[in-house]
Amino acid sequence: VASSGAIARKTGFHDATAFRAGGAVRIHGISKSFGPLKVLDDVELSLPAGSVTAILGPSGSGKSTLLRAINHLERVDDGFISIDGDLVGYSQKGNTLYELKEKDILKRRADIGMVFQNFNLFPHLTVLENLIEAPLQVRGLKRDDAVRLAQELLARVGLSDKINAYPRQLSGGQQQRVAIARALALKPKVLLFDEPTSALDPELVGEVLDVIKELARTGTTLVIVTHEIGFAREVADTVVFIEAGRILEAGPPSRIFTTAEHPRTREFLAKVL
Ligand code: ADP
Ligand code: MG
Repeated sequence: VASSGAIARKTGFHDATAFRAGGAVRIHGISKSFGPLKVLDDVELSLPAGSVTAILGPSGSGKSTLLRAINHLERVDDGFISIDGDLVGYSQKGNTLYELKEKDILKRRADIGMVFQNFNLFPHLTVLENLIEAPLQVRGLKRDDAVRLAQELLARVGLSDKINAYPRQLSGGQQQRVAIARALALKPKVLLFDEPTSALDPELVGEVLDVIKELARTGTTLVIVTHEIGFAREVADTVVFIEAGRILEAGPPSRIFTTAEHPRTREFLAKVL
């Protein structure tokens, strides 16, 4: 995008070559308010390509808003977000220095998959139709290729036999695995999960976490909002604790789950562990 170069020079952003590999995300100083409520407060986060980041924090702390900001479903008031060193949004103190056009936002959004708590499958479409919709519309794939891709992805999440089922005929865990396959169908560089197992019966949580664990090995950059501490400890490179829109602490699970520095992190973990 034409104007990103000047801003990048101004911020020194492109010096950070480590963040130019496939799927690297950098979030710099983003803030967002809803009316008087500051929901994100100067959030700073670097997600190297292929990294797995778990985001923890109490309800209402801004976790979903942060994911939505990364995906440009929410416009931030301040700060910038980049993918692979390309600035994808920038504004400062209400003076917009750089802003993406809607069509550019759509293009970038296609590189970022999102999986929601409530699956959000299209209820009136079969599993196959759910999976081929975006590849046909967004990526312009031929139908045969889209179907082949859907078959591959369903095999990967262990649901080949459900290709003609409707979402209502599937368990929650199966629906979520289809939702993950659907997100993967766009070959995203970054996958965002917003409490992907919170709506599931406990016995169905494991099958979804197993699929995510498998993805963690494939080099897609993953960001997972979750309360599954055991899972975060096993899979995440970095655990981020957020409260009242601020990142209070970030570090490797081996440290955060044993010797968190911030008392609020320790209090929170004591409650969920
Ligand atoms: P979390 O995902 O950590 O539970 P959210 O990011 O969903 O938190 O929300 C953070 C805060 O922002 C909450 O107080 C929530 O009520 C508020 N909020 C979220 N979205 C909106 C919105 N569209 N309008 C007004 N307030 C919102
Ligand atoms: Mg949320």
